[in-house]
Amino acid sequence: MSKVLQNIEVDLDAELEEQLQWMAPDYSHFEILKKSVDARRGKPRFIYTVEVFGKDETPEKKNFDLEKLQSPPQLPVCIIGAGPAGLFAALRLLERGIPCRLFEQGEATEKRILSIAKFWRKGELNERSNVGFGEGGAGLFSDGKLITRIKSPFIPYVMRRLVEFGAPAEIEYLANPHVGSDKIRRVIPKMREHLIKLGLDLRFNTKVIDLKFSGKNVKAVVLESGEVVDCEQIILATGHSSDIFDVLHQRDVFMEGKSFAVGLRLEHPQIEVNRMQYRDYAEHPKLGSANYKLAYTDKTQGIGVYSFCMCPGGYVLSSGTEKDGLVSNGMSNFNRNSPFANAAIVLSVDHDKNFPGDLFGGMKYRRHLEKQGFEMVHNYGGTRELPAQKLFDFIDGTSKSEIPKTSSPSGAIKAPLHELFDQKFRKLFLEALKKFDRQMKGFLSENAILFGVESRTSCPLRVTRTESFESVSHKGLYPTGEGAGYAGGITSAACDGIKVAESIYQDHLSFSATSG
Ligand SMILES: Cc1cc2nc3c(=O)[nH]c(=O)nc-3n(C[C@H](O)[C@H](O)[C@H](O)COP(=O)(O)OP(=O)(O)OC[C@H]3O[C@@H](n4cnc5c(N)ncnc54)[C@H](O)[C@@H]3O)c2cc1C
Repeated sequence: MSKVLQNIEVDLDAELEEQLQWMAPDYSHFEILKKSVDARRGKPRFIYTVEVFGKDETPEKKNFDLEKLQSPPQLPVCIIGAGPAGLFAALRLLERGIPCRLFEQGEATEKRILSIAKFWRKGELNERSNVGFGEGGAGLFSDGKLITRIKSPFIPYVMRRLVEFGAPAEIEYLANPHVGSDKIRRVIPKMREHLIKLGLDLRFNTKVIDLKFSGKNVKAVVLESGEVVDCEQIILATGHSSDIFDVLHQRDVFMEGKSFAVGLRLEHPQIEVNRMQYRDYAEHPKLGSANYKLAYTDKTQGIGVYSFCMCPGGYVLSSGTEKDGLVSNGMSNFNRNSPFANAAIVLSVDHDKNFPGDLFGGMKYRRHLEKQGFEMVHNYGGTRELPAQKLFDFIDGTSKSEIPKTSSPSGAIKAPLHELFDQKFRKLFLEALKKFDRQMKGFLSENAILFGVESRTSCPLRVTRTESFESVSHKGLYPTGEGAGYAGGITSAACDGIKVAESIYQDHLSFSATSG
């Protein structure tokens, strides 16, 4: 009988196999179920959970085959947006035998990569196809961290399918799974091929500009070309940066303001972060690039300051989607081997306290910051760069120091980022940084650089849903993923897309049961 061994501690210079030889001397082979690094004290160690098997035993492969509808509906479901939520919703629907169409305003991966390169090199933004928009959604140029805080039965399915499309097998067991931007860009076109084989009507460069309802029931989507595509269900997987929110508002789709976070992105040399986390073992070849997760709460004001989307061995990206707005974000490749580490340091923005009665208040604030960032770059003689400031200058309220080489592919230009935010923001930001420095000695580093503006951490709106994941105001409209306010990353958006697809499947099942 196979058995599961949990929390096996393995010294940095030892091998798991050696340890297993005395823990389970009769084992023939094993499978890693979980692996993490514990670097809290002394010499870092690996912590494993492993399943060991006897000679004739084979690991049981979880089966993800699904039952299909016997009589598929006539009208395909319309999905808007080819990010993780839209793509996984399409996959699940097709595997359930439900036909669907997917409309994506941006380009397919291969062309999108070229549009992004042009933007970083020349500052020429394609407003439909960029770091936020296009096949793969915001996830395509992401850091590719697949870790999520949600507990969903669909996570193993998502990981398995990604592995089948070419992601590294380790994402099925690592505690901190990571695919990296380079690998995601190879996985998504394979997923596309598979979806098309399953019958997906997939249209790139196709923007949905309106939704049609008959009373409060979904009737059709309207494409920019003027084409009206009839449907009874729309999966709205448009992400947190789409202008579709204006359409939803005009059509009286119920939405609520939602709290979010804004701030700046901070970059350190990776070796400094390794030293902060791994101390004397900073350059140990088995450890790779270290990461961190830091948080501080000002209890009197109820405002949180925290690190977000930490990218070890990564790059700071210019990732805006509007011509006059500038956004920073981060990514890394699978090997996490750039000499820099970056993370967003953001403050929570409570919707009700800051924008009472103004549904679009958060959106407007976000846009205002991005516009200011953009203007700063141009006022300081830049064209395509990100505005940047040495951390110590930010603390002193000056911008005298030149910016050394950074990881940003579009470059960086010296700018007074401290002027972007009010006194209250700066005070909290600095208190948090001081606390982080106490937790990670050296965090306040002479070499650290801030970039503006980290404004797209999550959606400032929620398109509120019922328990069956339909809009509370419109039947047949299924808001999903990050833009709907129900996910906050690649894996959670993918799981949410699946959840919505399953709800549509269950609806069809009960309809066939009652009608047949
Ligand atoms: C640089 C960067 C790094 C990131 N790193 C990570 C990470 O490491 N790990 C992680 O978990 N998350 C990361 N994220 C966040 C993650 O990418 C998102 O949470 C996730 O992609 C959200 O998925 P989604 O499907 O809900 O929406 P999106 O991925 O935003 O996709 C929405 C899609 O809808 C399309 N669309 C919008 N409106 C229309 C319309 N009217 N008509 C047609 N198409 C439309 C858009 O073009 C877009 O392609 C990162 C994001 C960025 C930008």
